[in-house]
Amino acid sequence: MKIARVAVDVPLEWAFDFRVPDGLDAQVGAFVVVPFGRTRKVGMVVERLEASEVPAHKLKAIEREVDDIPPLAAKDIRLLNFCAAYYQRGLGEVIAASLPPRLRQVTRRRVAAIAPHAGNQDRETPPALTHEQQAALDACLAGLDRFHPVLLHGVTGSGKTEIYLQLLERVLAAGRQALYLVPEIGLTPQLEERVRKRFAGVPVAHAHSHLAQGERAAAWLAARTGEARIVLGTRLAALMPFHDLGLIVVDEEHDPSYKQQEGLRYSARDVAVRRAQELGIPVVLGSATPSLESFANVGEGRYTLARLATRASGASMPAVRTIDTRADRPKEGLTSALVRSLRECVARGEQALVFVNRRGFSPVLFCRACTWHSSCRRCSANLVLHRKAGELRCHHCGHRERVPQACPSCGAADLAPVGQGTQRVEEGLREALPGARIERVDRDAAARKGALGAALERFRAGEVDILVGTQMLAKGHDYPRLTRVGVLDSDSALFSADFHSAERLFALLVQVAGRAGRAKAAGEVLIQTDFPSHPLYAAVARHDFEGFAAASLEERRLAGFPPFAYLALLRAEAKKPGEALRFLREASTIASRITAEVEVFDPVAAPLERKAGFERAQLLVRARSRGPLQAFLRDWRARLDESAARSVRWSLDVDPQEV
Ligand code: ADP
Ligand code: ZN
Ligand code: ZN
Repeated sequence: MKIARVAVDVPLEWAFDFRVPDGLDAQVGAFVVVPFGRTRKVGMVVERLEASEVPAHKLKAIEREVDDIPPLAAKDIRLLNFCAAYYQRGLGEVIAASLPPRLRQVTRRRVAAIAPHAGNQDRETPPALTHEQQAALDACLAGLDRFHPVLLHGVTGSGKTEIYLQLLERVLAAGRQALYLVPEIGLTPQLEERVRKRFAGVPVAHAHSHLAQGERAAAWLAARTGEARIVLGTRLAALMPFHDLGLIVVDEEHDPSYKQQEGLRYSARDVAVRRAQELGIPVVLGSATPSLESFANVGEGRYTLARLATRASGASMPAVRTIDTRADRPKEGLTSALVRSLRECVARGEQALVFVNRRGFSPVLFCRACTWHSSCRRCSANLVLHRKAGELRCHHCGHRERVPQACPSCGAADLAPVGQGTQRVEEGLREALPGARIERVDRDAAARKGALGAALERFRAGEVDILVGTQMLAKGHDYPRLTRVGVLDSDSALFSADFHSAERLFALLVQVAGRAGRAKAAGEVLIQTDFPSHPLYAAVARHDFEGFAAASLEERRLAGFPPFAYLALLRAEAKKPGEALRFLREASTIASRITAEVEVFDPVAAPLERKAGFERAQLLVRARSRGPLQAFLRDWRARLDESAARSVRWSLDVDPQEV
């Protein structure tokens, strides 16, 4: 009998045997429709067998092959297998994660081909490279035909994108495909525009989660068949199959959005490097603030370093200064020094950006009489005041309620917001700078489709003087008249429990600073802080990534944290109080029986202890090297599957980005 083992999207036991009816090919890699319980599912053949352990009369037959999805090639299956093993998930789940939702449907409309770039066929001619750029490009070109990882460390505005584009050119000329990864595509319409101009007439596929389902499916198919020459996408594109991939670019390689935070918790950057290694192709990781992991890889001789120390336009780096908020007390979040600077900027006809670090800092309603504050009943989080909507909202579970007229606890009418929400800062700015044209963009504004892009476009067109917003403003491209950047509320990240947070804050500040003064006029960045002499701010002011990285790496080395150790986090949540922690204590006991090579920390409450009615806890494990950790996790996961109560939800996060 002809048997096919088929991977389907179910968590634990994910491979099932099916009979292959006569006339069906069902080779390894083929997508097939199989009967599954009362329904049918799309799965992929992972193995062909002569016999099955399942008795013949119980074997169901494959219903049909999905004829418009080409089978995956062995190299792509290897990549998905690697992801499954490394991130401790079933292969069925990994395949599903890599397949656009439309293609997972058993019955669906046929997917149309990708639309080639329309419009004029006039290609923009690339600018002559600077010496630095040429040297960096040469460093990348030195290994076009082999695994050649290059860390392109270039200050903001140094012309990294230009190097990617010229590399792409070479790879396309050699007849191969290129994958260009960016952390968040919604924020890079200017990049899409640049790619379109440079590669007019070249079929480019876009791959990100904001696309219509049909477009996403079309991009996947075009990458697989080779019709798409360039795939420009977010992390999900890292898992797509390619016909003949010749280059991978990972822009802003340090960006945490490359790590998926649920389900298959993969790092698209790490998967990209792995893939390049498997395929024997170059991979370029670019950033103004490389991740400490990648930077350490340069030190270890695993990656080639290419440096761009100056801006391509010749503009100087912005001056970075701190404003001591202990002396200059902020009003509505704004110090008088910052207001003065913004006023001058607007008076000169230049533009400014006011950046509110809202991570862990939002306007919470507070009673001055009794200290009551608005908190979510289902989460251990505060409700955030949304003044325009007249609502309090939980940013974790989505709970909403009307703003109370009086304190729900003592009845006093003395309710006031604390914390510098973007709305409050916007109002403060309007008061302080009456004539200025001010626009706010934050998560709420950006939730409306296209709203962020439209706001950035207005700013670019000079219709807005001051743009106020959160981290989403940090990324983006050139605003030629932007010369001032104010930074509010960044201190909280200096003292976070997560060891990643200093690295994140440094990257964020460099990124926002990088928005300023790209043009002729000099830029200035003003950071409001209670800790004006903090070494992190001093390093940002010196534009000294190397100094910051060396100090941070030394701290990591002493503490035994990545990249000097490897971590995995076991997360658990349960409705019943104490149950998640109880499960983790048991998991800890099990772990200690498996190996002494892996260190098991104590179970602790998660940073957000309650979420949507679930109590959450976590357990960190650490090993000196990857191999033993991987072996341990495999074993541990199998035993946890057996021991976990149904009422506990748990998951493993390998190389966690939030601890
Ligand atoms: P990065 O990606 O490093 O932040 P970009 O590639 O966006 O930098 O380049 C910054 C600006 O400099 C862009 O406006 C770009 O067009 C310009 N630029 C890049 N390379 C050159 C060059 N060789 N000559 C002139 N302008 C350049
Ligand atoms: Zn009160
Ligand atoms: Zn909530």
